[in-house]
Amino acid sequence: MGLVAGKVALVTGGAAGIGRASAVTFAREGARVAVVDDDAAGGEKTVAMIEEAGGTAVFIECDIADADGVECAIAKSVEAFGRLDCAHNNAGVEGPMALTAEYAESEWDRLMGVNVKGTWLCMRHEIPRMLFRGGGAIVNTASFAGVVGVEGMTAYSASKFGVVGITKVAALEYASMGIRVNAVCPGPIRTAMIDRLRETNPQAMADLLASAPMGRLGRPEEIAEAAVWLCSDRASFVNGHSMVVDGAFTAR
Ligand code: NAD
Repeated sequence: MGLVAGKVALVTGGAAGIGRASAVTFAREGARVAVVDDDAAGGEKTVAMIEEAGGTAVFIECDIADADGVECAIAKSVEAFGRLDCAHNNAGVEGPMALTAEYAESEWDRLMGVNVKGTWLCMRHEIPRMLFRGGGAIVNTASFAGVVGVEGMTAYSASKFGVVGITKVAALEYASMGIRVNAVCPGPIRTAMIDRLRETNPQAMADLLASAPMGRLGRPEEIAEAAVWLCSDRASFVNGHSMVVDGAFTAR
Protein backbone atom coordinates (compact mmCIF):
# COMPACT_ATOMS: atom_id res chain seq x y z
CA MET A 1 0.00 0.00 0.00
CA GLY A 2 1.26 3.47 -0.87
CA LEU A 3 1.72 6.17 1.76
CA VAL A 4 -1.33 8.09 0.51
CA ALA A 5 -3.27 5.26 -1.14
CA GLY A 6 -6.86 6.21 -2.00
CA LYS A 7 -6.38 9.90 -1.22
CA VAL A 8 -6.83 12.91 -3.48
CA ALA A 9 -3.94 15.40 -3.57
CA LEU A 10 -3.52 18.84 -5.10
CA VAL A 11 -0.05 20.22 -5.89
CA THR A 12 0.56 23.83 -6.95
CA GLY A 13 3.62 24.63 -9.01
CA GLY A 14 3.27 21.08 -10.32
CA ALA A 15 4.54 21.92 -13.81
CA ALA A 16 8.23 21.85 -12.85
CA GLY A 17 10.88 21.25 -10.23
CA ILE A 18 9.81 20.39 -6.71
CA GLY A 19 6.08 20.51 -7.55
CA ARG A 20 6.44 18.07 -10.43
CA ALA A 21 8.43 15.67 -8.23
CA SER A 22 5.78 16.02 -5.54
CA ALA A 23 2.90 15.31 -7.95
CA VAL A 24 4.72 12.26 -9.31
CA THR A 25 5.49 11.01 -5.78
CA PHE A 26 1.90 11.52 -4.57
CA ALA A 27 0.70 9.47 -7.57
CA ARG A 28 3.33 6.76 -7.04
CA GLU A 29 2.20 6.51 -3.40
CA GLY A 30 -1.40 5.93 -4.46
CA ALA A 31 -3.10 9.35 -4.63
CA ARG A 32 -5.07 10.81 -7.51
CA VAL A 33 -3.46 14.17 -8.22
CA ALA A 34 -4.63 17.61 -9.37
CA VAL A 35 -1.62 19.38 -10.88
CA VAL A 36 -2.10 23.17 -10.59
CA ASP A 37 0.17 25.70 -12.33
CA ASP A 38 0.09 28.75 -14.60
CA ASP A 39 2.33 26.87 -17.07
CA ALA A 40 -0.04 24.68 -19.09
CA ALA A 41 2.62 22.89 -21.17
CA GLY A 42 4.65 21.90 -18.12
CA GLY A 43 1.53 20.90 -16.18
CA GLU A 44 0.27 18.67 -18.99
CA LYS A 45 3.72 17.07 -19.14
CA THR A 46 3.55 16.23 -15.44
CA VAL A 47 0.12 14.65 -15.96
CA ALA A 48 1.52 12.61 -18.87
CA MET A 49 4.42 11.42 -16.69
CA ILE A 50 1.98 10.30 -13.98
CA GLU A 51 -0.32 8.56 -16.46
CA GLU A 52 2.60 6.80 -18.17
CA ALA A 53 3.55 5.38 -14.77
CA GLY A 54 -0.02 4.10 -14.30
CA GLY A 55 -1.31 6.90 -12.04
CA THR A 56 -4.27 9.28 -12.29
CA ALA A 57 -3.93 13.06 -12.62
CA VAL A 58 -5.56 16.15 -14.11
CA PHE A 59 -4.02 19.49 -14.95
CA ILE A 60 -5.74 22.70 -13.85
CA GLU A 61 -4.38 26.01 -15.11
CA CYS A 62 -4.30 28.72 -12.44
CA ASP A 63 -2.31 31.73 -11.28
CA ILE A 64 -2.23 31.26 -7.50
CA ALA A 65 -2.03 35.04 -6.95
CA ASP A 66 -5.52 35.41 -8.47
CA ALA A 67 -8.28 34.88 -5.88
CA ASP A 68 -11.04 33.92 -8.32
CA GLY A 69 -8.65 31.66 -10.20
CA VAL A 70 -7.68 29.78 -7.03
CA GLU A 71 -11.31 29.33 -5.98
CA CYS A 72 -12.11 27.99 -9.43
CA ALA A 73 -9.07 25.66 -9.55
CA ILE A 74 -9.87 24.06 -6.21
CA ALA A 75 -13.53 23.64 -7.22
CA LYS A 76 -12.36 21.95 -10.45
CA SER A 77 -10.09 19.56 -8.56
CA VAL A 78 -12.98 18.53 -6.29
CA GLU A 79 -15.19 18.16 -9.39
CA ALA A 80 -12.58 15.88 -10.94
CA PHE A 81 -11.99 13.58 -7.97
CA GLY A 82 -14.92 14.14 -5.59
CA ARG A 83 -12.96 15.43 -2.62
CA LEU A 84 -9.65 16.86 -1.37
CA ASP A 85 -7.49 15.12 1.25
CA CYS A 86 -3.98 16.52 0.76
CA ALA A 87 -2.60 19.78 -0.60
CA HIS A 88 1.00 20.72 -1.31
CA ASN A 89 0.98 24.50 -1.78
CA ASN A 90 4.33 24.79 -3.47
CA ALA A 91 4.18 27.34 -6.31
CA GLY A 92 6.53 30.22 -5.70
CA VAL A 93 8.82 32.77 -7.34
CA GLU A 94 12.32 33.85 -6.36
CA GLY A 95 12.64 37.40 -7.78
CA PRO A 96 15.93 39.18 -8.38
CA MET A 97 18.79 39.38 -5.86
CA ALA A 98 19.49 42.92 -4.59
CA LEU A 99 20.49 44.65 -1.37
CA THR A 100 17.61 45.60 0.92
CA ALA A 101 17.97 49.35 0.22
CA GLU A 102 18.06 48.70 -3.54
CA TYR A 103 15.22 46.19 -3.83
CA ALA A 104 12.48 47.14 -6.33
CA GLU A 105 9.06 47.79 -4.78
CA SER A 106 7.31 46.13 -7.72
CA GLU A 107 9.30 42.92 -7.14
CA TRP A 108 8.54 43.04 -3.41
CA ASP A 109 4.82 43.23 -4.20
CA ARG A 110 5.03 40.42 -6.80
CA LEU A 111 6.83 38.05 -4.42
CA MET A 112 4.43 38.75 -1.59
CA GLY A 113 1.48 38.33 -3.97
CA VAL A 114 2.54 34.91 -5.18
CA ASN A 115 4.44 33.40 -2.25
CA VAL A 116 2.43 34.61 0.74
CA LYS A 117 -0.95 35.69 -0.58
CA GLY A 118 -1.03 32.85 -3.11
CA THR A 119 -0.30 30.25 -0.43
CA TRP A 120 -2.94 31.78 1.83
CA LEU A 121 -5.50 31.86 -1.00
CA CYS A 122 -4.90 28.16 -1.62
CA MET A 123 -5.42 27.31 2.06
CA ARG A 124 -8.46 29.58 2.16
CA HIS A 125 -10.22 27.47 -0.46
CA GLU A 126 -8.74 24.07 0.42
CA ILE A 127 -9.66 24.14 4.11
CA PRO A 128 -13.47 24.28 3.64
CA ARG A 129 -13.25 21.37 1.17
CA MET A 130 -11.23 19.35 3.69
CA LEU A 131 -13.54 20.25 6.59
CA PHE A 132 -16.50 19.06 4.53
CA ARG A 133 -14.95 15.57 4.42
CA GLY A 134 -13.83 15.58 8.06
CA GLY A 135 -10.17 16.53 7.70
CA GLY A 136 -7.04 16.64 5.61
CA ALA A 137 -3.40 17.61 5.51
CA ILE A 138 -1.66 20.63 4.00
CA VAL A 139 2.04 21.21 3.35
CA ASN A 140 3.24 24.65 2.30
CA THR A 141 6.64 25.05 0.64
CA ALA A 142 8.65 27.68 2.51
CA SER A 143 12.46 27.68 2.22
CA PHE A 144 15.72 27.70 4.16
CA ALA A 145 15.33 31.45 3.48
CA GLY A 146 12.27 31.26 5.74
CA VAL A 147 14.43 30.02 8.61
CA VAL A 148 17.66 32.03 8.29
CA GLY A 149 18.52 35.29 6.51
CA VAL A 150 19.96 35.07 2.99
CA GLU A 151 21.76 38.18 1.73
CA GLY A 152 20.23 39.71 -1.41
CA MET A 153 16.86 38.02 -0.89
CA THR A 154 14.95 40.45 1.29
CA ALA A 155 11.51 40.00 -0.31
CA TYR A 156 11.94 36.26 -0.85
CA SER A 157 13.04 35.81 2.74
CA ALA A 158 10.16 37.93 4.06
CA SER A 159 7.73 35.92 1.95
CA LYS A 160 9.06 32.56 3.14
CA PHE A 161 9.13 33.61 6.83
CA GLY A 162 5.53 34.63 6.05
CA VAL A 163 4.72 31.15 4.74
CA VAL A 164 6.12 29.64 7.95
CA GLY A 165 3.95 32.07 9.94
CA ILE A 166 0.67 31.38 8.16
CA THR A 167 1.40 27.65 8.40
CA LYS A 168 1.65 27.85 12.20
CA VAL A 169 -1.51 29.97 12.48
CA ALA A 170 -3.59 27.62 10.31
CA ALA A 171 -2.23 24.58 12.19
CA LEU A 172 -3.42 26.05 15.49
CA GLU A 173 -6.78 27.13 14.12
CA TYR A 174 -7.71 23.78 12.55
CA ALA A 175 -5.88 21.29 14.83
CA SER A 176 -9.09 20.34 16.62
CA MET A 177 -10.97 19.97 13.32
CA GLY A 178 -8.87 17.23 11.75
CA ILE A 179 -6.64 19.30 9.50
CA ARG A 180 -2.86 19.29 9.92
CA VAL A 181 -0.81 22.11 8.39
CA ASN A 182 2.96 21.90 8.06
CA ALA A 183 5.70 23.54 6.00
CA VAL A 184 8.67 22.06 4.22
CA CYS A 185 11.77 24.27 4.06
CA PRO A 186 14.04 23.14 1.22
CA GLY A 187 17.69 24.06 1.02
CA PRO A 188 19.10 24.85 -2.45
CA ILE A 189 17.54 22.31 -4.83
CA ARG A 190 18.54 21.54 -8.41
CA THR A 191 15.63 23.14 -10.34
CA ALA A 192 15.10 25.89 -12.91
CA MET A 193 14.79 28.37 -10.01
CA ILE A 194 18.38 27.79 -8.91
CA ASP A 195 19.57 27.87 -12.55
CA ARG A 196 17.97 31.31 -12.99
CA LEU A 197 19.59 32.61 -9.81
CA ARG A 198 22.94 31.20 -10.89
CA GLU A 199 22.71 32.86 -14.29
CA THR A 200 21.95 36.31 -12.90
CA ASN A 201 24.08 36.16 -9.72
CA PRO A 202 26.95 33.78 -10.43
CA GLN A 203 29.24 34.89 -7.57
CA ALA A 204 26.57 35.06 -4.88
CA MET A 205 25.28 31.64 -5.83
CA ALA A 206 28.77 30.16 -6.08
CA ASP A 207 29.48 31.37 -2.52
CA LEU A 208 26.15 30.00 -1.29
CA LEU A 209 26.64 26.62 -2.90
CA ALA A 210 30.30 26.36 -1.85
CA SER A 211 29.08 26.36 1.74
CA ALA A 212 26.75 23.37 1.21
CA PRO A 213 27.69 20.91 4.00
CA MET A 214 26.93 17.83 1.90
CA GLY A 215 28.81 19.30 -1.06
CA ARG A 216 25.84 19.15 -3.37
CA LEU A 217 22.42 20.60 -4.16
CA GLY A 218 19.31 18.70 -3.13
CA ARG A 219 17.13 16.86 -5.63
CA PRO A 220 13.45 17.79 -6.09
CA GLU A 221 12.52 14.20 -5.17
CA GLU A 222 14.13 14.66 -1.75
CA ILE A 223 11.65 17.45 -0.98
CA ALA A 224 8.75 15.52 -2.49
CA GLU A 225 9.40 12.58 -0.14
CA ALA A 226 9.10 14.88 2.88
CA ALA A 227 5.96 16.61 1.57
CA VAL A 228 4.14 13.36 0.83
CA TRP A 229 5.08 11.88 4.20
CA LEU A 230 3.90 15.04 6.00
CA CYS A 231 0.55 14.69 4.18
CA SER A 232 0.25 10.99 5.00
CA ASP A 233 -1.45 9.44 8.03
CA ARG A 234 2.01 8.27 9.14
CA ALA A 235 2.66 11.89 10.19
CA SER A 236 -0.58 12.02 12.21
CA PHE A 237 0.86 13.99 15.18
CA VAL A 238 3.14 16.28 13.14
CA ASN A 239 1.36 19.63 13.02
CA GLY A 240 2.45 23.26 12.77
CA HIS A 241 5.99 22.08 12.00
CA SER A 242 8.45 23.63 9.55
CA MET A 243 10.55 20.72 8.36
CA VAL A 244 13.97 21.73 7.09
CA VAL A 245 15.15 19.45 4.26
CA ASP A 246 18.44 21.11 3.41
CA GLY A 247 21.41 18.76 3.79
CA ALA A 248 22.38 20.60 7.04
CA PHE A 249 22.51 23.98 5.26
CA THR A 250 20.94 25.76 8.25
CA ALA A 251 22.54 23.56 10.93
CA ARG A 252 25.42 26.01 11.56
P1 NAD B 1 10.55 26.20 -10.32
O1 NAD B 1 10.68 27.59 -10.83
O2 NAD B 1 11.35 25.11 -10.94
O3 NAD B 1 9.03 25.75 -10.32
C1 NAD B 1 8.04 26.61 -9.80
C2 NAD B 1 6.71 26.25 -10.42
O4 NAD B 1 5.72 27.13 -9.87
C3 NAD B 1 6.69 26.44 -11.94
O5 NAD B 1 6.04 25.36 -12.56
C4 NAD B 1 5.90 27.73 -12.13
O6 NAD B 1 5.19 27.78 -13.36
C5 NAD B 1 4.95 27.68 -10.93
N1 NAD B 1 4.46 29.00 -10.57
C6 NAD B 1 5.18 30.11 -10.30
N2 NAD B 1 4.36 31.14 -10.05
C7 NAD B 1 3.10 30.66 -10.15
C8 NAD B 1 1.82 31.25 -10.00
N3 NAD B 1 1.67 32.55 -9.71
N4 NAD B 1 0.73 30.46 -10.15
C9 NAD B 1 0.86 29.15 -10.46
N5 NAD B 1 2.05 28.55 -10.63
C10 NAD B 1 3.15 29.30 -10.47
O7 NAD B 1 10.89 26.30 -8.76
P2 NAD B 1 11.19 25.17 -7.66
O8 NAD B 1 12.60 25.25 -7.34
O9 NAD B 1 10.56 23.88 -8.02
O10 NAD B 1 10.40 25.84 -6.45
C11 NAD B 1 9.21 25.32 -5.89
C12 NAD B 1 9.01 25.93 -4.53
O11 NAD B 1 10.13 25.61 -3.71
C13 NAD B 1 8.93 27.46 -4.54
O12 NAD B 1 7.96 27.88 -3.60
C14 NAD B 1 10.31 27.89 -4.10
O13 NAD B 1 10.30 29.16 -3.52
C15 NAD B 1 10.64 26.80 -3.13
N6 NAD B 1 12.08 26.60 -2.88
C16 NAD B 1 12.93 26.27 -3.89
C17 NAD B 1 14.28 26.10 -3.61
C18 NAD B 1 15.28 25.74 -4.68
O14 NAD B 1 16.48 25.80 -4.40
N7 NAD B 1 14.89 25.34 -5.88
C19 NAD B 1 14.74 26.27 -2.30
C20 NAD B 1 13.85 26.59 -1.30
C21 NAD B 1 12.50 26.75 -1.60
